[in-house]
Amino acid sequence: MTQILNSSPVKKKITKELKSECKKLIENGIQPYLKVILVGNNPASLVYTTNKKKYCEKIGAKCDIVSLSENIDLNLFLEIIYEINHDDQVHGCIIQLPLPKHLSHLDVGQLVAENKDVDGFHPNNLYSVLSNQTSQNHFISCTPKGIITLLQENFIEISGKRVVIVGRSMIVGKPLFCLLTNHDATVTLCHSKTENLRELTKQCDIIVSAVGIPNFIDETYLSPKKNQVIIDVGMNVDTAGLLCGDVDFDKVKDLVHSITPVPGGVGPMTIVSLAQNLLQAAKNKLSL
Ligand code: NDP
Repeated sequence: MTQILNSSPVKKKITKELKSECKKLIENGIQPYLKVILVGNNPASLVYTTNKKKYCEKIGAKCDIVSLSENIDLNLFLEIIYEINHDDQVHGCIIQLPLPKHLSHLDVGQLVAENKDVDGFHPNNLYSVLSNQTSQNHFISCTPKGIITLLQENFIEISGKRVVIVGRSMIVGKPLFCLLTNHDATVTLCHSKTENLRELTKQCDIIVSAVGIPNFIDETYLSPKKNQVIIDVGMNVDTAGLLCGDVDFDKVKDLVHSITPVPGGVGPMTIVSLAQNLLQAAKNKLSL
């Protein structure tokens, strides 16, 4: 019987812990405070930022969405981030992607101060993952961190396992490659130029898909005898306008050991990881 890796029990457990940690911080005079920078009116970005704000408030943290015009001047945009970086009241800041064309050349990882970079995109935070030297002063990218938590909380072995990640973005594939390697998995990172992708996915124990194409992974990518684990990172919109992942869930679900659903799998874990990073940033301030 396939295990559906629904994130809600894990989220419930971590939410309880985060609420209690947040309460303690507030008793010590610090309310964790996140600023989310949102440029323009991309409907998906509006949903994601609202969900992040709601979750922060649920655990007792403060969160403001800084909504900026689609046409905001570059210098003004940089000035706003500079102010947030220097605002002692703010513990974390994230810039919702994608940015409009005239800002898309900016390296987002370099904009937010390292100690407020709760998205884990700053070069020093990425390097800590690359070098397997993470500490409380470093933040791990939220989606990769959430995937590891989901696997661990469901007692899915990582060490020694063969993992294929499809998708090599800086926010999912590459940091996840490092994190899984740090957890002693043997990882193959694939992309659009990978030849014979099916040969690779058929040989592995865990498949992670972060491609952005609905129904990309179907039964032809699997080896049903291998009891594979499928992690679907995709957040796409299907032809009916509904949220769907990269995996053809109905075709695959009876052929694998376990699989994350979309919605209700990796997405909520990303928000939980963001809140964990925010509380860590606030705690770091307390111990200064
Ligand atoms: P990007 O669009 O940045 O990258 C997509 C990756 O998929 C690229 O590496 C690309 O290869 C690869 N790819 C595209 N087509 C193929 C193909 N035919 N075969 C193999 N590889 C292919 O993706 P993101 O990482 O930003 O996002 C991926 C998905 O994950 C999206 O649906 C996004 O919405 C979702 N997402 C979900 C999150 C969550 O919290 N659940 C968080 C972040 C993203 P190449 O590099 O060669 O172009």
